[in-house]
Amino acid sequence: MGRETEPGTATMDTTVGPVAIIVTEPRLGPQPARPEPKRTQVHRPKHVPRRTCIACRDKDAKRTLTRIVRSPTGEIRIDPGGKQNGRGAYLCSQPSCWRKAVGTPLLGRALKTEIDDATRSTLQAFAASLPDQPTDSLAANPNERTS
Ligand SMILES: [Zn+2]
Repeated sequence: MGRETEPGTATMDTTVGPVAIIVTEPRLGPQPARPEPKRTQVHRPKHVPRRTCIACRDKDAKRTLTRIVRSPTGEIRIDPGGKQNGRGAYLCSQPSCWRKAVGTPLLGRALKTEIDDATRSTLQAFAASLPDQPTDSLAANPNERTS
């Protein structure tokens, strides 16, 4: 806010060169002077989205993870495409994980918000509609409930 963007300054995308040293940039404000031995590690991989079920902490990419998003307006909804704007949390397709996340402060903590009763029952209904084993067809659910 109010800071001028200087052209030519190093961005997160470091130019690939023989020696790419990331020079400390005061864009994050004053930082405590601390030794950073990993500074020479220039070979950074691209950002890989790491999806972890917030209940069982399973990172298995083969397992279907469903994203729950808190929209900028504070609305909480299920985001099957995983592209909606906002803060997201992932839950795998195990109904037990949903019950755990929805029935405890877990999900609210992950989304940094409070889950109200309406949202809670919506999520519980979704959890109840989950099959026992992972499947890709989350959208096509013939047993859709209307509480
Ligand atoms: Zn899980």
